[in-house]
Amino acid sequence: MNGWKLIKPFKIERSDVEDKSGAVGVSKIKITKSLLTLSDVLAYDGEIEAENVVIGSFGVGIISEAGANLFEIEKGKRVFVEATRPCNECYNCMSNQPHKCSNLLVAGEDFDGFLRDFVSVDAESIYLLPDSITDVEALYIGYVSLALSIVDKLEIKKGEYVAIIGSDSLAVILAQLLIYYQAVPIIIGENKEELEIAKKSGIYYVFDIEDNYLKEVFNITGGRLAKKSVYISDSDISVSKAFAVSSFNASVAFTGTMNKNVTASFSQAVKKQLNIFCVNTGYGNTESSINLIANKAIDLSNLEIATAPYSDVPEVLSKMENELKETGKIHDTVINLV
Ligand SMILES: [Zn+2]
Repeated sequence: MNGWKLIKPFKIERSDVEDKSGAVGVSKIKITKSLLTLSDVLAYDGEIEAENVVIGSFGVGIISEAGANLFEIEKGKRVFVEATRPCNECYNCMSNQPHKCSNLLVAGEDFDGFLRDFVSVDAESIYLLPDSITDVEALYIGYVSLALSIVDKLEIKKGEYVAIIGSDSLAVILAQLLIYYQAVPIIIGENKEELEIAKKSGIYYVFDIEDNYLKEVFNITGGRLAKKSVYISDSDISVSKAFAVSSFNASVAFTGTMNKNVTASFSQAVKKQLNIFCVNTGYGNTESSINLIANKAIDLSNLEIATAPYSDVPEVLSKMENELKETGKIHDTVINLV
């Protein structure tokens, strides 16, 4: 097996990858496409701790050797491979509640990611993809699953206003999901290109943080402000903005696709007696996400996603890193492995 391994920050090498599974009954999957996201760039530039690991946050592929317990998923079928894994060591994992794992492991950081020719995994990590889902849509299943967890935890009701601080791909996917569940998302972001994408994706209330967003939210909600808010830590917007748009006793979800450090003052949150909680995984939602995408609940066609061949990975990462430094934003990039 061969993959792009991050040796240390800024040093990536194409090298042999040891097949660590070694277990009986695992399936071998030929990876056809992998997605490079912000997490990969932050691993590359050393902001996220990841060394001696194959990068690539998400992957889709074709079954090349079918292992045990795959049932209808046979050789040649197109599949999505779960990108997170319970630690199997914490109290909840040991108590048979892996979905509540307190140290969930992430592909490309804690274990080898998907920028490699083959992966070997257990049947429980493999999901058959219906023909109605494209490979690129499948690479966003992880984001849709995280958005679903947020919707669940916020206990969204029909007609409710939900303020989203941040305007990246996760924000756009979450907003579309909220519309699907008949809630009313209000996106507040700072990147003009992202805000345009949000509008094109069918989100009605989209505001630039430079505009008078607070007055807008006040007017839309009839002075009540948002009873539910989501703060996406991948954005560099101050947490205080999320507290500002939230009503007294509102629920505020902190989330992000990677564990970025955020500093915040909580005086406003204490004053308003906000209910703050964190969501960092969509683990367990993969099947529901596949159904939602197949039912066209989410339109990913407006996201600006770059593509590149497998041989260009070092150049792509270095370009993404530059883009992040200069604009504060990156374009997710699909790497074609075949
Ligand atoms: Zn665990």
